[in-house]
Amino acid sequence: MQATIFDIQRFSVHDGPGIRTTVFFKGCNLHCFWCHNPESIRSEKEVQFHPIKCIGCGKCFAVCPNQCHVMRDGERVFEREKCSACGKCTDLCYAEALTMAGKDYTPREVLDIVMMDKPFYKENGGMTCSGGEPMLQKDFLTELLRMAKEQGIHTAVDTAGNVPFSWYEQILPYTDLFLFDLKCMDDATHVKAVGVHNQLLKENIRRLSDAGAHIWVRIPVIPGINANMENMRETAELVRNLDGVELVELLAFHKLGGGKYESLGLDYQAKDIIPPAKEQIQEFCRPFKDVGKNVKC
Ligand code: SF4
Ligand code: SF4
Ligand code: SF4
Repeated sequence: MQATIFDIQRFSVHDGPGIRTTVFFKGCNLHCFWCHNPESIRSEKEVQFHPIKCIGCGKCFAVCPNQCHVMRDGERVFEREKCSACGKCTDLCYAEALTMAGKDYTPREVLDIVMMDKPFYKENGGMTCSGGEPMLQKDFLTELLRMAKEQGIHTAVDTAGNVPFSWYEQILPYTDLFLFDLKCMDDATHVKAVGVHNQLLKENIRRLSDAGAHIWVRIPVIPGINANMENMRETAELVRNLDGVELVELLAFHKLGGGKYESLGLDYQAKDIIPPAKEQIQEFCRPFKDVGKNVKC
């Protein structure tokens, strides 16, 4: 059994309680135009090209079986559409101008890396499976979570909620915490922003709470999409009666992932968005406090 993982981040402090090891699964069935990890969206492995790091050694030109690396009008060009992601050029690019997003792992290989961090977890740290959407590789995920629990490791799953509830039932016995993303309550805006309806997400978070799951809701605050009081009030109404929701986190939009779009040959559609002010985020906390929820921003 293998899964395609694009990163394993050690000593993470932003993906659940305590110090964590975050395993990033490749592939997502939402397409948020502001996504900070655009390399997570496609399920297939793909090459990232960072021209600024290229030292012009020419090795990739010689090794590529599909002649993806060419000179045109005196300029070095990567013809991405011909790339089969064989990894020959990324393996030998010493300058790391060419890198591969995605690598196959077995559950044991991932767990071996996670286990190296176990001494640092103390009482509340652990492993977080994120992405992308880790639920899309649910059988691997279930096995990894099961093995982690066997080792006494706290487990969290970061999900965008757009999968059948039966998939959550499969991982529930091995998942200590869900980090559940809620983007926006207005369905038409949701479709426009991420490409899918939000009814299934709302139903899944209700059913997870009813099933006794521990949940932290995460809301990325995106100007022009959900950065308004009406959306925050509606979200607060949704979580008001969900006993499983222990915390709501408001995550301000930022542009740190912007450069990755270019490396993947993609257009960064969020480039003109201005990050929300700190005071505005604090104001958005109010509706959640009003319904008795803990809020972090
Ligand atoms: S192998 Fe890397 S450093 Fe060498 S030419 Fe290709 S991209 Fe540039
Ligand atoms: S990954 Fe393989 S096919 Fe793609 S550019 Fe590199 S050598 Fe060519
Ligand atoms: S759900 Fe998360 S990983 Fe998927 S596209 Fe949206 S921001 Fe990116």
